Amino acid sequence: MRGWVCGNNMTQIISKLLNRTSVKWKVLILFCALAGTVGVLLIGLSFAMFANYQDMVVAKRAHYTSDSIVYALETMEGLSQLERYVAIVGAESDVDLLLVFDVATGSVLASNRGTLQGGNIYSIDDVDLRKSVVRVLNGDDPLSEIRWEGDRASYSVKAPTMVLETGGIVDTLVFVRLKTRYITAQSSDMAQQLLIALLVGLMLAVLLASKFLYDLIVSPLLKLRDIAQSRAVDTVSMAPFVNRMDEFGEVARSILVSFTEARETAEQFAKQARHDSLTGLGNRTMFQEQLHSCLSHAERSGKLVALMILDLDHFKEVNDTLGHHIGDQLLIAVADILRENARDVDTVIRLGGDEFAIIVDELDQVDGVMAQANRILEALAKTHLVAGHEVRAEASIGITVYPQDGREPDVLLKNADLALYRAKDEGRGNIQLYRHELHLRVIEKNAIERDLRTGIIENQFVLYYQPKIDLETGEIAGAEALIRWKHPDRGLVPPDVFIPVAEDSGIICDLTDWVLAEACRQIRAWMDEGVGPVSVAVNVSALDLRRPDFTDRVAATLIGAGVSPKYLEIEVTESTMMHDVDQVIGTLRRLRAFGVSISIDDFGTGYSSLAYLQRFPVQRLKIDRSFVMDMSTDINSHAIPKLIIDLARNLGVGVLAEGVETQEQRDILTSMGCEEAQGYLFGAPVPAEDFESLLRRNVNFPVRQLEEKEVDEASSISVA
Ligand code: C2E
Ligand code: CA
Ligand code: CA
Repeated sequence: MRGWVCGNNMTQIISKLLNRTSVKWKVLILFCALAGTVGVLLIGLSFAMFANYQDMVVAKRAHYTSDSIVYALETMEGLSQLERYVAIVGAESDVDLLLVFDVATGSVLASNRGTLQGGNIYSIDDVDLRKSVVRVLNGDDPLSEIRWEGDRASYSVKAPTMVLETGGIVDTLVFVRLKTRYITAQSSDMAQQLLIALLVGLMLAVLLASKFLYDLIVSPLLKLRDIAQSRAVDTVSMAPFVNRMDEFGEVARSILVSFTEARETAEQFAKQARHDSLTGLGNRTMFQEQLHSCLSHAERSGKLVALMILDLDHFKEVNDTLGHHIGDQLLIAVADILRENARDVDTVIRLGGDEFAIIVDELDQVDGVMAQANRILEALAKTHLVAGHEVRAEASIGITVYPQDGREPDVLLKNADLALYRAKDEGRGNIQLYRHELHLRVIEKNAIERDLRTGIIENQFVLYYQPKIDLETGEIAGAEALIRWKHPDRGLVPPDVFIPVAEDSGIICDLTDWVLAEACRQIRAWMDEGVGPVSVAVNVSALDLRRPDFTDRVAATLIGAGVSPKYLEIEVTESTMMHDVDQVIGTLRRLRAFGVSISIDDFGTGYSSLAYLQRFPVQRLKIDRSFVMDMSTDINSHAIPKLIIDLARNLGVGVLAEGVETQEQRDILTSMGCEEAQGYLFGAPVPAEDFESLLRRNVNFPVRQLEEKEVDEASSISVA
C-alpha cells in the first residue's frame, strides 16, 4: 500500500516536471539519454572486441616468429647459422625468449639469450621458465596454442628434424615467449583512436538527429507559438502551415479559425462601440477619434476642417405627440439626409438625442460648408413621410472652422455649440458661424450668472415701482414692480441684461420668489402706513409657471405677508404663455381661483391665437410699448392698439397701454377706449419711498379735454 502511494507520488512529480519542461528540452533530454546509452554500449562492445583483437594480434605475432624459425630450420644446415638467425629474430623488442631445443635430450640448440645457449632446459635456473618448457616437452601443455602468463604469452611448435653439421638428426621444438605489452601497445593506440572517432561520430549522429527532430517538430511548434502569441494570426502568417496535412496543419487551421472568429467578434464590438445603434452613424467615440485625426491631417495639408453641429428644433414635440417610435424613425430619416449631403471625406455623427455633427474635412473655403449646411436645412425642411405621418425636421446648425476659430478638438466643439445656441436664439431653422465676440458674450453671461448667485445671497436687488394710471380719472390705479440690481462693481444693472441669463440658468425662480416676497412686504407696509392699499403687478417668467408648487408659493407668500390676493397681479408675457399651454393654463387657473389677477404682458408681440386666449383666465391685456411708440407719428400704427382694445372689450377683460410717453399718445388711447396706461408720461419706475411720496401727495394726472377734431380722428380708426 505504501509502495503504491509512493509510486503514485512519483508519477505525479514526473508528470508535473514533464508539464513544466518545454518540448525543446524534452527532445534534447531524450536524445542525450539515447546518446548516453548508445555510447556506453559502444564503449563496452569496443572493450570486448579489443580484448579479442589483442589475442589475435599476439597469436599472429607468435605464429609469425615461430613460423620464421621453423622455416629457417627447414632450410638451414648447421647450428651456427641457426644460432645467428635466432639471435636476429629474438632481438625484436617484443620477443622475450626464443628457444630451439632438442626434444629427445632437452639440450638448447639455439636461443636469443646467450646464457641458455648450449645448455639444457632441465638445468635452467629460471624455475618458471624451466617448468613451462618442461610441461611442453612432457606434452602437458598442448602445442600450437597460446598460453598466457601475466603480461607474457608463450607458444610452442614442433619443428621439422634438423640435420646437424655432425650429420646427426634431431627432432626440434620451438618455444617463443612474447612481451604482450609491446605488441598490444600499438593496437590499443589504434583502438583508442577508433573509439574516439566512433564517439565523435555518435555525437554527430545525435546532433544531426536532434537537429532533424528539432526542424521537424520543435521549430514549427515554436513558430506556431510565436504567431499565436503575437496575435498576428491571419492567412498570411499562417500560410506555411495551413496547407500541411499533418497535425501541425490541423492545429494551424483550428488556431486560424478561432482567431478569425475572435477577431470578427472584437471588430464587431469595436464597431458597436463606435457607432450609434439606431442610425448607424458614428457616435461620440468615433467623433473624438475622427476629429483628432482630421485635425492632425489638416495641420499637415494646410486645409480647413469645419465642425458642424446640428440640432433638431422641435424634436421633443414629435416625440411627445407622435410617440418615440416615430421619433426614432425621424432620426433615421435625418441620418440618411445627412449622409446624402456629406462628402466621402466627411464624417457624420450622432452625438446623442436629436443632436448630430458633421466633420467636414479637406475644406478649401468656409463658403463650401455654408452651402452644405443650407442644402441640409433645405432637405430637412421638406416633409418626410415617417410611418404614415407627415413630419418636418427643422434644425439649427452651428459651425466652427479649424484653424481660425480654434485648434483643439474641445475648443472647436465648444465653439460649434455656442454657434448652435446662437442659431437657436435667432429663431431656429438657422445657421450660425462661430464668431469670437459670441464667445465673449458667453464669458460675460457666465460672469453674470456667477454674480447673480452672490447677488441673491447678498441681497443686492431692489424693486422699483412704476405707476399705472386710470385714464378716466387720472389717478394712480396701481404699480408695476420692476427689479433692479445694485451690482457692487457694475452699478445699477437693468433687468434686460440679467433677466435672460437668470432665465437660462434657472436662477429666475429664486429671483421671482424674492420679488414676490418683497412686493407683498411692500404692499403690507404701505397699508400699515395708511398710504394704500396699492395693487402691485409682478412679472413672472415661463419657468415660474412650470413649477408645480408655484401657486402654493404665491399663496404662502401672500398669507405670510398678510396681503389679500386681490392686491397682487401677475404679469405673464404673451410668448411665455404659448409654451406648454396646458401646464401654464393650469397654474394660471389655480392662481386665479386663489384670487390673484393675471395680465398678459407685451400683448400683440406673440401672435397668440384667439382660440387659446379664451382659455386663459386673464383680467388684463397690456398693449406692448412698440405699438404705442409710433402712434403719434404714424396714423397707420393706430390699427393694432385699436384692435387690441376692441378685443379686450369683446373678451370682457381690462386693457392697459404701456410706454405712454406723450400726451398725444395718452389722448388717442383714451379716445380709443383704453382703460389704463403706464409710461414716462406719468412716471418712470422709482424706488419704493419715491413711489410712496407720489401716493402721499395723491398725485393726479388730470384728464385733458379733447378737442372735437381729435375725438373724430381717434374713433374713425376702424379695424378692417
Ligand atoms: P416689462 O414687463 O415690459 O416692463 C416694462 C418696461 O418698460 C420696464 O423696463 C420699464 O422701465 C419700461 N418702461 C416703462 N415706461 C416706459 C416708457 O414710457 N418708455 C420706455 N421706453 N420704457 C418704459 P425695465 O424696468 O427695464 O424692465 C424690462 C423688462 O424686464 C420688463 O419688461 C420685464 O419683462 C423684465 N422684468 C423687470 N422686472 C422683472 C421681474 O421682477 N421679474 C421678471 N421676471 N422680469 C422682470
Ligand atoms: Ca411687465
Ligand atoms: Ca411689457
